[in-house]
Amino acid sequence: GIAAATTDLTKVYGSGDTRVVALDGVSTSFREGEFTAIMGPSGCGKSTLMHCAAGLDSPTSGTVRIGTTDLGTLDDRRLTRLRRDRIGFVFQAFNLVPTLTALENITLPLSIAGRRPDPQWLDRVVAMAGLSQRLDHRPAQLSGGQQQRVAVARALASQPAIVFGDEPTGNLDSRAGAEILGFLRDSVRELGRTVVMVTHDPVAAGYADRVLFLSDGRLVDEMSHPTADRVL
Ligand code: ADP
Ligand code: ADP
Repeated sequence: GIAAATTDLTKVYGSGDTRVVALDGVSTSFREGEFTAIMGPSGCGKSTLMHCAAGLDSPTSGTVRIGTTDLGTLDDRRLTRLRRDRIGFVFQAFNLVPTLTALENITLPLSIAGRRPDPQWLDRVVAMAGLSQRLDHRPAQLSGGQQQRVAVARALASQPAIVFGDEPTGNLDSRAGAEILGFLRDSVRELGRTVVMVTHDPVAAGYADRVLFLSDGRLVDEMSHPTADRVL
């Protein structure tokens, strides 16, 4: 099935002299169990597309569906609940709570929602993250790569239908970045998640099943089974 889809998505910032068309009629869909990378030059609209597709920002026109739900039909409360229950987020900055342990960070969104994590699922995610021996550590006691693995595990904790990453390897060296990309790919292959990742790194895009190329707010190309040297 389709995990998420955009139809004729347009986003305009500002007006008059400061008017910027960040997205200009973007239609695409993200299939369940597929890992998509979104690439393009700085300022082409990658973050805006991700933020709109994830319900973090509202488009000027066009529609976003998560599963069969049209986000435009939801009030703020329902939209917040859908994001919380069905969408995971990973950003360039790890955004962990420094006073909480790795495990507490991973389960924090669920705790806030008053939900308990599924223990079996949590075990699988923690093992896949390679964090089993680090669950009692606080962020300051972890490397950048480990902190981002906590952030990915947190994104996966609620068994979300789709995980969005905005330059998830942007703050990492290539080795730690490769671990994160392997983890994201495993979450697709072994956990059946859907992942959509914004990146400017061809190596990162090489982990995806498909790459979308944006330019000036438009989808201009698409590649299946990318490799780093073909993306360059
Ligand atoms: P990318 O992620 O590809 O670098 P963005 O989606 O961040 O691109 O930005 C696309 C365009 O929209 C850019 O010209 C950017 O300056 C503009 N833009 C993004 N966010 C805002 C905003 N909140 N207000 C005004 N302009 C914005
Ligand atoms: P990225 O590195 O992901 O492209 P940016 O540096 O373009 O991110 O943007 C970071 C944040 O600033 C985003 O939330 C974006 O919406 C906002 N932003 C980007 N460009 C502008 C702008 N021209 N005016 C106001 N906000 C902007």
